Amino acid sequence: MNLALLSKMSSRKEFAKDEVIIWDGDIMGNEMYIILQGSVSVYKNYKEPNEIRLRTMHPGAFFGEMTLFLHKQRTATVVALEPTIVLVINRMNAYEFFEQQPEASAKLAATLYERLENVNKNGGIADDLSPFLPKEYEKYDWSTVNFAGKNPEESYKVIQVLCEALDKINNVAVRQKALADFFPAWHKKMYSINIEPPKSELLYEKWQKCPICEQEITVTLPKQSKLKTLRVDRDFRTHYEGIEVVFYDVITCPECHYSDFWNKFPNSVLQRFRENIREIRPYKEVLGLNPGAEKDINDVFAGLYLVIKCAPLFSREPYMAQSRAWLRLHWLYEDCKDATMSKFAMQQALHCYLFAYEKAELSAEALQQLCITIGELSFKLNDIPTAKQFLLKARSNKGGKDAMVRQAADRLMDIREMEKRGS
Ligand SMILES: [Zn+2]
Repeated sequence: MNLALLSKMSSRKEFAKDEVIIWDGDIMGNEMYIILQGSVSVYKNYKEPNEIRLRTMHPGAFFGEMTLFLHKQRTATVVALEPTIVLVINRMNAYEFFEQQPEASAKLAATLYERLENVNKNGGIADDLSPFLPKEYEKYDWSTVNFAGKNPEESYKVIQVLCEALDKINNVAVRQKALADFFPAWHKKMYSINIEPPKSELLYEKWQKCPICEQEITVTLPKQSKLKTLRVDRDFRTHYEGIEVVFYDVITCPECHYSDFWNKFPNSVLQRFRENIREIRPYKEVLGLNPGAEKDINDVFAGLYLVIKCAPLFSREPYMAQSRAWLRLHWLYEDCKDATMSKFAMQQALHCYLFAYEKAELSAEALQQLCITIGELSFKLNDIPTAKQFLLKARSNKGGKDAMVRQAADRLMDIREMEKRGS
């Protein structure tokens, strides 16, 4: 950028060292700035305990363009690091800038385009930038942007198009990054599963109050009285005719994204835990779940992971909810034929169940079921000594259920047979 030429423009402003040029969140500003002399730093949470310095900029760099071209509110605070002179471009002199400074404005376009390409490349977002640019700009030659002799309105429009594209792609990148942080590393971007949606007579809707944000929400649940059991797996997964109930196990509040199992969801939460609502707000922004009767497997995965994240924030005994959620994740990954994640979820479930065994206060029956589940998971993960240890506990459980005593005894026999065959 030819700074000597830019200096001829009259709209300059001077800032002293440590003077704030723009404030994060300001909605009134309508200017962008090009640094002519000095340097500035860009901050989030300026002068707060969690202050972060994002970057430092030097002569030739520009900032504030999103506010000028898209009327967007400021998203960071910019502070002069030393006595600094900037060129101010606002709605009054923008056309003058494009007309008198074709070189600087072309440089502005080239820099914005370069940023677009970098965000796209670093985020692995799209094959090319066409989803982010209007159709009429598809053939535009961005490598040799030249604004000399061009109508300033046209140049203005080009910059505006680039700012819009940058805004769109940044939103996608932020969402993708947040989703990547939300799910474990090996969780795929999309899963699909081949199941029929249940007949409407198997479901009912009811109003419920979210215990965290206190909004009234509608939830869809299976009608317990209409469910016909087909079979129960050894780890207590129950299959019903015409409906996959795992899809309806978790309720996510569409307002705040607090999530828990349906039979625990309405339980009141201690006031001091409710303050943690700020910890789950970002999840609402990235996931935007609003589950109705039709459930998508990817939303079900998100709901289960939300339970795992919410449990330690809102409950003193998080491990029971977490172990139930991991066990369901194990089932669903298995249904989706993702063996790696299925095994991972099973290990997590076992880890949480062992923790629950140590810590949770359970009825004799619940304790017996817990021991069988630990036994079954250990067996599947080939940890035979642990499997035997917990199945023996379940078999000798006083006050438990006869059916579960038999189940534990049967499994112990299987293990003995297996050991005899030496496999
Ligand atoms: Zn809520």
